[in-house]
Amino acid sequence: MNTKAVVLIVDDVSTNVQTLALLLKEEYDIKVATGGARALELASQDPIPDLILLDVQMPEINGYDVFKLLKEESITAKIPIIFITGKDAIEDEEYGLELGAVDYIAKPIRPSIVKARVKTHITLKQQHDQLIGMATHDQLTGLYNRHFLSDVLGKKVSESKRHNHALSVIIVDIDHFKNVNDTFGHLTGDIILKAVAKIMENSARKEDVAARFGGEEFIMVLDSCTAEDALVKAEKLRSEIEALHPEGILVTASFGVAQLQQDMQRYEDLLKNADTALYIAKEEGRNRVVLYEKKAL
Ligand code: GH3
Ligand code: MG
Ligand code: MG
Repeated sequence: MNTKAVVLIVDDVSTNVQTLALLLKEEYDIKVATGGARALELASQDPIPDLILLDVQMPEINGYDVFKLLKEESITAKIPIIFITGKDAIEDEEYGLELGAVDYIAKPIRPSIVKARVKTHITLKQQHDQLIGMATHDQLTGLYNRHFLSDVLGKKVSESKRHNHALSVIIVDIDHFKNVNDTFGHLTGDIILKAVAKIMENSARKEDVAARFGGEEFIMVLDSCTAEDALVKAEKLRSEIEALHPEGILVTASFGVAQLQQDMQRYEDLLKNADTALYIAKEEGRNRVVLYEKKAL
């Protein structure tokens, strides 16, 4: 959180790169590229830059083309870009801004102006990231929220159908949580929600999504994962939650597991099946995992 923002400087003339790097290196972590291909590589590698200063006139790929390629890749599409260039004709500035650059700085550069503009755009980028974080995460647990989950699950369902990959979901619902609140108070209830969320977060792989779906309900979306694998995962979560004893209280949860089927079009149907299985888990006595099976209904 307290690490410096990252600026990628791209210019084919290395003295230009050095001048800019020298100017900005105290306040930012600097990555440098002297060609378009290297710029594209560095832009998509960790740490992803918070801002790119991009020269227009470069051999091989020019800055406008680098810009377009960056905007085509989801991982780099949102990085703000400032063109820094010797082309100072008004049409060039117009073209750069029309493409979607956040700013345009003409060479020879004025150090104080470059510094100020970079600072402005880094601040805007950080504020934007912060808002996106708030809009997609649950405040209490820090997990993804329902809004984000719906978005991402819709996309994952389409992708899985297109590539014929397995996709499974686990719904988790804490057992008798109302009793916990009633007995130990709402604040203790919150601590327990956070502890359960931590277990979900820790067991999610990079490609999985763990989200808080509602009050004491969580969802885990498992990419390239069959129902059998999801069952194993759910059982592991179940036993971890049972063993947790947050605040010294025995907490258990029930689990519904479902895998995306050929005939399903909507992510809501996948969730509905997992929810049906969850309902059965509750009916059968809670603290258990149930797989959705069509024939059983
Ligand atoms: P079941 O085993 O059938 O799931 O029973 P339950 O009591 O867990 O289910 P119910 O849906 O009746 O109650 C859910 C409770 O979760 C009620 C609500 O007060 C509590 N809850 C929802 N959100 C929060 C929260 O953010 N913090 C706390 N402490 N409690 C919450
Ligand atoms: Mg519930
Ligand atoms: Mg519950």
